[in-house]
Amino acid sequence: MVFKTNAGNRKNEIKDLEKGGLSFRQATIKWALSHPYVASVCVSITNFDEIHEYAQAAGKPLEEAEIAMLKRYTDEMYDRYCRFCGECESRCTRGVAIADVNRYAMYFKYYGREKDSMQLYGALRDGGNAASCEDCNGACDAGCPFRRTVRRELVEAHNLLSFPRGDA
Ligand code: SF4
Ligand code: SF4
Repeated sequence: MVFKTNAGNRKNEIKDLEKGGLSFRQATIKWALSHPYVASVCVSITNFDEIHEYAQAAGKPLEEAEIAMLKRYTDEMYDRYCRFCGECESRCTRGVAIADVNRYAMYFKYYGREKDSMQLYGALRDGGNAASCEDCNGACDAGCPFRRTVRRELVEAHNLLSFPRGDA
């Protein structure tokens, strides 16, 4: 069983990605299920439309146009989404839980889980949040094998996920 096949779920950031009636969601599970060692795919489904969309893809082969769409996503999003590998965390002397912060920001921005993600962020251990990233030189940037702008996104995530003072 595999999951996280939507690779950051940032399809809406690419204009015309699904032009011609293509479905990014369908293509990702077709691609995953085409691997001989994969029996099933676990995905987040938040409404009935998505159930229908995924169900229509089951058992169908991946088409050339879908492969091209997935390659385009891979190229354009390569340095945009976090893989939560934690490789960069050893560069941070302040103990920021970089992968967790990025995961919660993803929940907020791309999965419609705003309140939940803010509560998770608020529960991070002392020093684990990204409050101190604003005045840091960003040593973590050099630690990401995917060339992500780690510090910049952490500052953005902190602003996104922090409860207003006195509202936590
Ligand atoms: S910006 Fe600085 S404080 Fe924030 S995670 Fe990177 S190294 Fe740590
Ligand atoms: S920012 Fe890069 S190195 Fe750090 S957890 Fe994400 S993908 Fe891994």
